[in-house]
Amino acid sequence: MKAQPQNSRRQFIKHSAAASALAITPAIWEKNIGLVGLNPKEKLGIALVGLGYYSGKVLAPALQETENCYLAGIVTGTPEKEKTWAEQYGIKDKNIYNYDNYNSIADNDDIDIIYVVLPNSMHAEYTIRAAEAGKHVICEKPMGLNAQECESMIKACESNKQKLSIGYRMQFEPHTQEVMRLGQEQVFGPVKLVNAGAGYRESRADHWKLDKEMGGGAMMDMGVYSLQAARYVTGEEPVAVTAQTFTTRPELFTEVDETTMFQLEFPSGALANLHTSFGMGMNYLNVTAEKGWFKLDPFSAYRGIKGESKNGPIEFPQINQQAAQMDEQAYCVMEDKPMRVPGEEGLRDMRVVDAIYRAIGSGDQEKV
Ligand code: NAD
Repeated sequence: MKAQPQNSRRQFIKHSAAASALAITPAIWEKNIGLVGLNPKEKLGIALVGLGYYSGKVLAPALQETENCYLAGIVTGTPEKEKTWAEQYGIKDKNIYNYDNYNSIADNDDIDIIYVVLPNSMHAEYTIRAAEAGKHVICEKPMGLNAQECESMIKACESNKQKLSIGYRMQFEPHTQEVMRLGQEQVFGPVKLVNAGAGYRESRADHWKLDKEMGGGAMMDMGVYSLQAARYVTGEEPVAVTAQTFTTRPELFTEVDETTMFQLEFPSGALANLHTSFGMGMNYLNVTAEKGWFKLDPFSAYRGIKGESKNGPIEFPQINQQAAQMDEQAYCVMEDKPMRVPGEEGLRDMRVVDAIYRAIGSGDQEKV
C-alpha cells in the first residue's frame, strides 16, 4: 500500500486548503519521506536546468538521497558540463539537453519534472516552456521578476495540466514547521512582531546577482526568506509595506540593492521588521507574541537550524531539506496531490516584493 502524507494540525499556509491538507508534522516526518513503492514509476526523473552553484553543489548531491525521484537529466549551455555531469551521475546521453533543443524534452519519458535553477530573470521563460513541453515544474525562488510573471507561469502550468511548485525548502523543514505552528495556532497568543534577517556578503562584481535585469539584488535573493518567515509565522498576508535601501559599496551596487530594510503590517495588527543584505552575514528569526516568544537562529541555513521558545528548546532532527522537498514534490506528482508550496505561494511573495520596490521608490507606505 502507498504511504501517504497525513493531515496535520500544523497548517502551512492558511490560505491554501490544498497545501495544508498535505502538511506533515515533524513527528511523522521520517515516515513520510519514505514514500516508496509508488506506481506507475518507482521514481520520477528530474531534469535540472542550469548547472550552477545550487544545482551542482546542493541539488544534485541531494538527489542521491531521494527516494521518490532521481537525477535523470540535465539542461546546460556548457558542453564541458555535459561530460562531467554524465560521468559523475550516470546521466544517459539522450537525457542531456542544451538551451536550443530544450523544447524537445517533451518527447522524453524519462523526464517527469523539470527543475528550473537558472538566474531569476529566466525562471518564467523556462517554467512556461517546461509546462508547454508537458512537464511538471519546480522553480527556484524568487519565482519570477514580479507578480505578473508569476501569474503567467501559473497560467501556463494550469493550461497544460502540469504541477508547479517553488523551491522554498524551509517549508519542508521540521523546526520551521514548528514555528509556523507556534505562530499560526497562537500557542503564545497572537503574534505581535516578527523580526528576521537573511544575508551574506556578495562581492562577485560580474555575477548576475548584481545585475538588475537578471533579477539580482539582496531583496530578490535573500529578502524572500525574511518575507516568507513573516508570512508563515503569522499565516497572514501583509496589507502595507514601507522599505529603505542602503549601500556601503556604491561601486559594486550600481543597479541592485545591497541592504534592504522592510516593514510589513498584517491585518491582525501584527508587524514585521525585516531585512536582507548582500553586505553582511545574518540569519535569524525572532517572534514576539502576546504571551511569549520563539526564535530560530539560524532560520534558513541548509543545516543546523536551531530554535528556542519561552518554554525551552525547539528540537527536531536535522534533515536534508532539498531531498525532503524534492521527495515530497515527486510524491505529489505521482499521486496527483496538491503541492505544499504551489506557484501561488511564490506569487504571494512577489506581490509583496513588488510593493517593497514601489515603497523604496516612493519613500511612502505602499499597499500590497
Ligand atoms: P549560479 O549563477 O551559480 O548558476 C546559474 C546557472 O545558470 C549557471 O550554470 C549559468 O551558466 C546558467 N545560466 C544560463 N544562462 C545564463 C545567463 N544568461 N546568465 C547567467 N547564467 C546563466 O546561480 P545559483 O546560485 O545556482 O542560483 C540559481 C537559482 O537558484 C536562483 O534562482 C537562486 O535564487 C536559486 N537558489 C536557491 C537556493 C535555495 O536555497 N533555495 C540557493 C541558491 C540559489
